[in-house]
Amino acid sequence: PHLKASNSVSHSLQAKMSRPVQARRLEGIDKNIWVEFVKLAATYSKVNLGQGFPDFPAPDFLTEAFSRALSGGNHMLHQYTRAFGHPPLVKVLAQFFEKLLGRDLDPMTNVMVTVGAYQALFYCFQALVDEGDEVIIIEPFFDCYEPMVKMAGGTPVFVPLRPNPPKDGKLMSSADWQLDPAELASKFSERTKAIVLNSPNNPLGKVFSREELGLIAELCVKHDVLCISDEVYEWLVYDGKQHIRIASLQGMWDRTVIIGSAGKTFSATGWKVGWVVGPDRLLKHLRTVHQNSVYHCATIAQEAVAQGFQRELTLYGKPESYFVQLPKELQQKRDWLVQSLDGVGMKPIIPEGTYFLVADISQFKSDVPDVPNSDEPYDHRFAKWMVKNKGLAAIPLSAFYSEAHKNNYTNFIRFCFAKEEATLKAANDILQKWKQEKTS
Ligand code: PMP
Repeated sequence: PHLKASNSVSHSLQAKMSRPVQARRLEGIDKNIWVEFVKLAATYSKVNLGQGFPDFPAPDFLTEAFSRALSGGNHMLHQYTRAFGHPPLVKVLAQFFEKLLGRDLDPMTNVMVTVGAYQALFYCFQALVDEGDEVIIIEPFFDCYEPMVKMAGGTPVFVPLRPNPPKDGKLMSSADWQLDPAELASKFSERTKAIVLNSPNNPLGKVFSREELGLIAELCVKHDVLCISDEVYEWLVYDGKQHIRIASLQGMWDRTVIIGSAGKTFSATGWKVGWVVGPDRLLKHLRTVHQNSVYHCATIAQEAVAQGFQRELTLYGKPESYFVQLPKELQQKRDWLVQSLDGVGMKPIIPEGTYFLVADISQFKSDVPDVPNSDEPYDHRFAKWMVKNKGLAAIPLSAFYSEAHKNNYTNFIRFCFAKEEATLKAANDILQKWKQEKTS
């Protein structure tokens, strides 16, 4: 009898263990490019132009505001604040976006603070996308959109930006990557719930033109589709280009959620303060997800970001404004990296915005050993080989494409140029030495 009892115990244990532990919504989304490439960069890189974060300090006015919030005597800043956003932050964000959008905003219902733009994206899909809904994603895309749509039970539908190389032999610009209007229109149907727009776009740096945004807006209105507008790089536009907010186009305010990030805006990605701006009819559902998951994000960081925005509101459009200075500095850094890459034949696609730059590596095939029987795309093999053999880290572009389309875009890698001058010089040294080795 003793033996029998123990047998049945072990049976029931086994039965429990053979049950799948993983929820179905995680199927197919367990692979993640960042885990592998962040580790490779940490292990091998001498110069890391991979992941998107600045290696220069956040501005003094911001870090000083954080110190004041931390130890300036208001001990309540160490406690919970309002769930949907620390009042000083939602108030100043509302004031700021009133200016940008030219409409009145209620800080309590038209603005919400999130843990980075990442969480804002997650909320949009959780709150607005149902089982069976389709969500249009423009390729190449910030890679988390796809798993987030899937986790919400939705189906991503991809439409690529198509490169049209200039005929005069000039370097390509991110503006040369364009949507085919007929192809885009063909993706909209009665199943389409939302489109994700990311302008300026990570990874290409494309800043969508008024015409392109107008086309997207027209289709959204025609098919009653929502727009999840990821604008985290809104201040990072170059060469006098203008960032246009799709929410300001006719018929779009009521169907658009604007997403922003203090991490990108104030060069403090580790703070993880993000926000959404939009109509109450959409934001009230995001608040439901927020209330039932995170409640709110760190009060001190929100207080400091509020002070940062207060400063920027006072200096709006003036030369001392960080939102004026940062893109100026980054444009110079972009130009240095463009020169370095062009000089070695790694043809850069000049970005109109963001702090990313995509370069063409098709001239470097003979440098990277072939791996027989491997179906790993060339850009992945190249990026791994480059970090291991040259100490320079970058990200393969095909990581920003759907499974079905990634094999069409394996000749490019993405660099981040939000780096100190010394870092970009070190990258240039690596590239120059590599070129000399190739020619000698
Ligand atoms: N959207 C895009 C397009 C991004 O590139 C990033 C960061 N790489 C995010 C959202 C996430 O921003 P945050 O760090 O504020 O969560």
